[in-house]
Amino acid sequence: MSERLYYADSFLRTFSAKVADVREASRAEGVSIWQIALDRSAFYPSSGGQPYDTGVLTANSRSGAVLEALVEAVEEDEHGTVWHYTRKPLAAGTEVQGMIDWQRRLDHIQQHSGQHLLSAVFARELNASTVSFHLGDTISHIDLAIGSIAHHSLERVETLANELIAEDRAVTVRTVDRAEAEALLAMGHLRKLPERAGTIRLVEIADYDLNACGGTHVRSTGQIGGLLLRGMEKTSRGFRVSFACGLRAVAAAREDLTTLSRASTFLSIGNVDVPAAIERMKAEAKAAEKERQKLRDELAGYHAARLAVEVQPRDGLRFVRRTFTDRDSEYVRLLASKLASSAPRTIALLASAENWPARVVLARSRDLDFHCGNLLRDTLAARGLRGGGSADLAQTDLAKDQLEAVSAELEQSIRERISAGASEAQPSSGLSQSLPR
Ligand SMILES: [Zn+2]
Repeated sequence: MSERLYYADSFLRTFSAKVADVREASRAEGVSIWQIALDRSAFYPSSGGQPYDTGVLTANSRSGAVLEALVEAVEEDEHGTVWHYTRKPLAAGTEVQGMIDWQRRLDHIQQHSGQHLLSAVFARELNASTVSFHLGDTISHIDLAIGSIAHHSLERVETLANELIAEDRAVTVRTVDRAEAEALLAMGHLRKLPERAGTIRLVEIADYDLNACGGTHVRSTGQIGGLLLRGMEKTSRGFRVSFACGLRAVAAAREDLTTLSRASTFLSIGNVDVPAAIERMKAEAKAAEKERQKLRDELAGYHAARLAVEVQPRDGLRFVRRTFTDRDSEYVRLLASKLASSAPRTIALLASAENWPARVVLARSRDLDFHCGNLLRDTLAARGLRGGGSADLAQTDLAKDQLEAVSAELEQSIRERISAGASEAQPSSGLSQSLPR
C-alpha cells in the first residue's frame, strides 16, 4: 500500500519519497515502459471518473547526475499500490522528488469538485441521483436517474450551482468508520455510500452536501470558478448532462462567442439577430427551392417537346437516345418521363454523365407494351450488371466503358421486340393502322 498524500492535501504539488518497487510493464520496439511504486505519493491514480495525474520523478544518481523520469500515467492495483508509468527505471530504495503537473491537476480538481456540487443540486432540486461521472478531455458529464428534465429546470440548476460557487462555501474532508457513515446515510445526511469495508472518506460542502469520495477537491466552492451546463441528452437509463467548470467553462464560452461572432459577421448583423436571420433564410431557401422545382419541371417539359421534334419516328417508333454531361440524374429522369408521357410511341433512353458512373434512365410511352424494368434487368444481367424498375420507367448506373455498348444493345433489343410485336399484331387486328407513324 502506498501512502496517498493527496488525501490530506489536494494542493500538494511536490513531495519526496522512496522507490518501493519497480517492474517492467511492457516493451514495444525496444522501448520499455516501467511501473514505479513509491512509499508515498501525491500522484492521483485514475479512479471514480477522475483521470490520473502526470508529472515527473527526479532522482540524484551516485555520480551526481540528475535523473528525470516523466510520469505518463498513474494507476492503482487491487492491493492499493499506486504505480507510476515511466520510460526510465528507478532502482528500489532510490530517493526521489515528485512533482505533479499542476495545471492538469487543478483542472481535474475544478471539474471533479464541480461534479460534487452539480450532483448535489440535482439531488436536492429534482430528486435526481447521479449514477455515473466521466471527466473528459474538454467536456465532462454525469448520468442522472430521472425520467425527464425541463429546460427551465436545467437553467435553475446552473444558476443555483453558480450561486453556491459565489458563496465560497468551505469544502472539508474527514474520515469516519463505516458504522458512522451508515448512520449518516440512514439519517439522510450522506448522499451516497460505496459498498466497501473499512474507513470512509467524506467530503462536505458546508451546509449543502456530504458525500463519500477518495478524489481531489477544492478547499472552498469559489475555487471551482464557475459552472456551465453544455448539453443534455436522453439515455437508456435517464439523462446525461454535460458541463464544464473553471477555465474550461471560460474556454467553452469563448469558443461559443467566436462561433456566433463568425456567423453574425457572415450575415453582417448583430449577434442577437442571428437566430431570426437563420429562420428567415430557411424560409427563403424553402420558397426558392419550390420555385426551382417548378422551373425545372417547366424546363423539362419544353426540353421534352424539343426532343420530340428533333427526333422523328422511324418504323413507327421514336427512339430518343441522348447523353447529357451537364444535367443531373434527377433532371434526366424527369425529362425521360415527360418525353414518354407527352409523345406517342416514344422511348427515351437518357443518361446523365455529369458524374461517373452515369445514371441511365429508360422510359416508354404507355401505348407501347413491354416492361422497361424487366428488359433492362435482363440485358444487364447478361453482363453481370444490375438495374431495374417499373413497366414504364427503369434505371441503372453505368461506367464510362459500358455506357455506349449497353445503350446500343438496349436500343437494338427494344426495336426488335417492337417490330416483332407489330408484325404479329398486324394480320389479325389492323390496330397498327390507327397508330401514328
Ligand atoms: Zn470527490
